[in-house]
Amino acid sequence: MTSTGGRLVACLTWKVHCPAPVMSDVRPNNMNHAKPKLSCHPARLVRHDGGTSSFGGEAAHEGTQPADWKQPLHLVATLDAASEFFPLEVYPHATLPLYYPFASSSPLLQYRVKSDDEIEIIHVSCFQLDTRPMIETTLLPPFQADLVAFSYVEARAIALSSAFPSYELLPEDKRYIEDSEAYTSVMTGVNLRTFQGDISHTCRNRHCQSFDRTTTLNIFCIVPCSRELAPDPHWGNYPKFVDLIFGLCPFCGTLVSLNVST
Ligand SMILES: [Zn+2]
Repeated sequence: MTSTGGRLVACLTWKVHCPAPVMSDVRPNNMNHAKPKLSCHPARLVRHDGGTSSFGGEAAHEGTQPADWKQPLHLVATLDAASEFFPLEVYPHATLPLYYPFASSSPLLQYRVKSDDEIEIIHVSCFQLDTRPMIETTLLPPFQADLVAFSYVEARAIALSSAFPSYELLPEDKRYIEDSEAYTSVMTGVNLRTFQGDISHTCRNRHCQSFDRTTTLNIFCIVPCSRELAPDPHWGNYPKFVDLIFGLCPFCGTLVSLNVST
């Protein structure tokens, strides 16, 4: 297992952008229209009363209750699409809700946002099992926040640490990373890289040209199960070194959430 610092630094490695696949201008309704921006500063959610994004809270959309589940999907965060640091473009709604299937016994969720009031679950990996309840709490404690970009010196220190993990950073670079809260906050950006590297995904959207084929997710948000974000009971069985990952199918633009750990 890598050190906590090394793990989290690796989360913030952003890659050279690869052009998205060419898609038709006219897509069926069960596609999302979102795609990653070509360029967007990496950012994190910073607590701010009156902020236009948020962390946690009650599931706020229709369609969040999987059939035969005891509880709805968990709302992890809501991103303000009007923020200059919002990582997606051609996104037709005011907010982007990030849902995660904590209760699944092998969590993986694919869904699309139909409106600011409704989502549609395309696939969820496994029904909740009576014998394996993974989490009992129904929500992550909410707070308002804004997306705030990492500064140049923060990004430089993080990138250096990630590219050369055995290189001893200068004390001021370590402070830049620590003070940035990069390792304990919700992180957004374009083509973020997890500490497991690229994440492959098999699209379950039957209307996607990549249906049932494996592609690489465009990851735009990483949420560490950080106790600074929420205290222990709210993460269920998840230790703090698990990251929740949010990405897009590069072909149909639907959202995928899963987790990675060391
Ligand atoms: Zn797809």
